[in-house]
Amino acid sequence: MLKIHNTLLRDKQVFAPIQPGLVRIYVCGMTVYDYCHLGHARVLVVFDMVTRWLRASGYRVVYVRNITDIDDKIIRRAQENGESIQALTGRYIAFMQEDAAALGVLKPDHEPRATQHVAAMQRLIGALEHNGYAYVAANRDVCYSVRKFEGYGRLSGKSLEDLRAGERVDVMEGKHDPLDFVLWKHAKEGEPPEAKWDSPWGSGRPGWHIECSAMSSELLGPHFDIHGGGQDLQFPHHENEIAQSEGANGCRFVNYWMHNGFVRVDDEKMSKSLGNFFTIREVLKQYDAEVVRFFILRAHYRSPLNYSDAHLDDARGALTRLYTALKGVAAAPVQIDWNEPHAARFRAAMDDDFNTPEAIAVLFELANEVNRSHSAAAAGLLKALGGVLGLLERDPVAFLQSLPAAVGHLAAADIEARIAARAAAKKAKNFNEADRIRAELLAQGIVLEDKPGGATEWRRA
Ligand SMILES: [Zn+2]
Repeated sequence: MLKIHNTLLRDKQVFAPIQPGLVRIYVCGMTVYDYCHLGHARVLVVFDMVTRWLRASGYRVVYVRNITDIDDKIIRRAQENGESIQALTGRYIAFMQEDAAALGVLKPDHEPRATQHVAAMQRLIGALEHNGYAYVAANRDVCYSVRKFEGYGRLSGKSLEDLRAGERVDVMEGKHDPLDFVLWKHAKEGEPPEAKWDSPWGSGRPGWHIECSAMSSELLGPHFDIHGGGQDLQFPHHENEIAQSEGANGCRFVNYWMHNGFVRVDDEKMSKSLGNFFTIREVLKQYDAEVVRFFILRAHYRSPLNYSDAHLDDARGALTRLYTALKGVAAAPVQIDWNEPHAARFRAAMDDDFNTPEAIAVLFELANEVNRSHSAAAAGLLKALGGVLGLLERDPVAFLQSLPAAVGHLAAADIEARIAARAAAKKAKNFNEADRIRAELLAQGIVLEDKPGGATEWRRA
């Protein structure tokens, strides 16, 4: 029985889809004017894992992840570059899709672009106006009146007063309340024609929040099962989506809200101003994409994820241990028997709010068993369960050969010292430690060969 932590209730809840057997899920995607960064990598990988697990659990899944291809930042960047909005967004959509594919992220069922759904956004704004939630502000923008919507702040668990305290009052915008947000932005002088649409409120473009309300109801209906996104979107974006969708459609919007945690870099917030901002591309120059995926999934999706070279090196060593176990054992292709003890524990972990660190711990237990017994069935199960997480799908030899040769150029004396430590660990029957040392050396391009009689020889791969 799957339980999901629902941000709305701040608690885990048994998952029951609206329509038995079918899960409809929407995740806020990227604003495409620059390369995706590590925070985007986490959203992509986390909700790929979620949809893979829902499918492995027997559900049919309709997964929508949108693309924001109209936005102030996009208009500004296109103008700076002296190119059209379409040229800019088209390029970064292609880069995003390359990054996602590299990280083993399967394509969502629908990837709607905001510019293709402007009519639906206008219909929604019209309904909000009709239902008394929208007004035309002094500056001609159409705004949402949050005080009209009972329950505003429920997702964040805050009152209107608490939320207002965090907002700067901007009287210039002509809003009735600092929390009111823009549904339709009036066109401004000098903006390119491709950033303007005709509407009952004059020429302009949609606000960011209305995009997701419109695209989700177009593709999934006004009421669906799961809405996901990064924790930073909880307020105001998701709070505003609820106010818009429920205000316009008059029914409940989403049953389960899921938010993944922040990415930190060397224990600091990742930000452009701190200079510790990494794009997926930069990271993939240094680390194998599967290592990055493994690093993301080894943490629970709701925990903060701390990026550092040491953590990535450690993830590489750990993934190397799993592939090393599979090397040399012909993994029998298996249909996963979920009653088998390892598989049962893996499933229990995943059903407990997608507890991937626990599920990955089961993979290591299986790897140890493969190392001990060389069982083709155990190796097959290891590969199959890894595959549920989008891991361990490559040929082990190809993965091991892809590792950087001699990272750090270990000196022979260091290697001998590590071999002695491994022999001591084996003698003490600490096989996990012995395996870890072997994998650590392998990750640095050093292959160990155990000879009859107990001696160990080494060579550079
Ligand atoms: Zn959104």
